[in-house]
Amino acid sequence: MLIAGNWKMFKTPSEASAFCRALRESIGDIEGVDVAVCPPYVSLANAIEELKGSEISVYAQNVHWAENGAFTGEISTAMLKDLGADGSIVGHSERRQFFGETDLDVAKRAKATIDAGLKVIACVGELESERDANQTEAVLARQMAPIVKEIGAHERLVIAYEPVWAIGTGKTATPAQAEEAHAFIRGLLDVPILYGGSVKADNAAELMSQPNVNGALVGGASLDVGSFVALCAASAVGA
Ligand code: PEP
Repeated sequence: MLIAGNWKMFKTPSEASAFCRALRESIGDIEGVDVAVCPPYVSLANAIEELKGSEISVYAQNVHWAENGAFTGEISTAMLKDLGADGSIVGHSERRQFFGETDLDVAKRAKATIDAGLKVIACVGELESERDANQTEAVLARQMAPIVKEIGAHERLVIAYEPVWAIGTGKTATPAQAEEAHAFIRGLLDVPILYGGSVKADNAAELMSQPNVNGALVGGASLDVGSFVALCAASAVGA
């Protein structure tokens, strides 16, 4: 079971240091639960420094597929490796919605990260309108296809199922809805599958107990040490 906190565009470097110091002191050893934080680029080094020697992993929120080159504003896998990051999220729905990332871009980012020896959390998920139109499985199949083709099942690849209508909205997929989507994704690719979308300490246990749910990608509830630790502890029941 992996619980990863996606900080999005929150926490400066010094805020990241303070958070990680407090997280390290308070998390203890939660059996069966691996914990990761995903700070913005400029706060990665501080998080890595504070968490050195601990069991807590540090992921970036995005990474480019090219080794280097004229890609202003992008970051390479070699840069993340050199910094000591464990891996990266790719294809978060905010990247797809606001920065025009395509399914193929996401697969290219994921493949380059795997090829560099890093870990990947690749995100997929349908819009509310797509769910309402009974398109959920078609959308997931379309998003997964290039990932399956480019990478396939790999020990460093994790998928995060994040229904877009549940991200940051307080609307959570029911455990049955999450399980149904996870089982569908697992039929396409047998790797660990995280659920994301308004996961909190008080709904984590039920979601994490579903057989095909292998952890969570958490936004809002990962920004406060107390709520993140409580969520990680609550998730142990599903471990
Ligand atoms: C996310 O950012 O991946 C996410 C799931 O956000 P939240 O937990 O705030 O819905």
